[in-house]
Parts: sequence; C-alpha cells; structure tokens
Amino acid sequence: MCFYEQFLYQCSDWKWGNFRQHCQAEYRTGETCGSKFVFQTFGLQEKCKLCLKIDAKERRKAKHIDDYNRWRREPRRYSASIEKALGDIKSLENEIGQLKAEKADRSRAFGARR
Ligand SMILES: [Zn+2]
Repeated sequence: MCFYEQFLYQCSDWKWGNFRQHCQAEYRTGETCGSKFVFQTFGLQEKCKLCLKIDAKERRKAKHIDDYNRWRREPRRYSASIEKALGDIKSLENEIGQLKAEKADRSRAFGARR
C-alpha cells in the first residue's frame, strides 16, 4: 500500500491527489503498489464537477418549472411554450438521473473510503 493525498469536496465526494509516500513493501523498488491509502486529507471549498453539473441542471429545471407554472395560467396563449418547457423539464430530469447514476457508480467503484 502506498500513501496519497486525498481531496474532499463539500458534497462529500472525493478524489485522490498526489502520491506522497511509499509503503514498506514497495520502498526499495521505487514503484507504487496497487493499494492506495490516505496520507493527508484536504478539504475543498467546492463541490465536485459532477455535483456542480447536477446543480446547474437542477437550476435550469427549476427555471423551466417556474416558467411552466406561470404560462399554464394562460394555456391558450402559451401552449407552444408550455409544451417546450415540459419537454425541457423531462430531458433535464433524464440528464440529472444519468449524472446521479454516474456519481453512485463512481462512489461504489472507489469502495470503502477513509
Ligand atoms: Zn460531488
């Protein structure tokens, strides 16, 4: 096992940072072995890219829902806009679902953290 920095995002997702130290077993060879252990954790003031993407899409979806709620009071006048808003909401929901699945996959792949 070798030791690495760990970056911890606001959203509690994390990523590995730089390699810091070899473990006993690999010290002489100068190679790093397959197992990564945390040398030091750095807290970041931001969310990870995936969560930022999800947030941005959530905000866009909220805006479409706002528009939709405003327009549906006058359905005749805004029928085309309403339809478009509903389509946008639906596709954003799909995209958000995919990103969330990606996030879940990733945290599973990393396995036991800390
Ligand atoms: Zn995240």
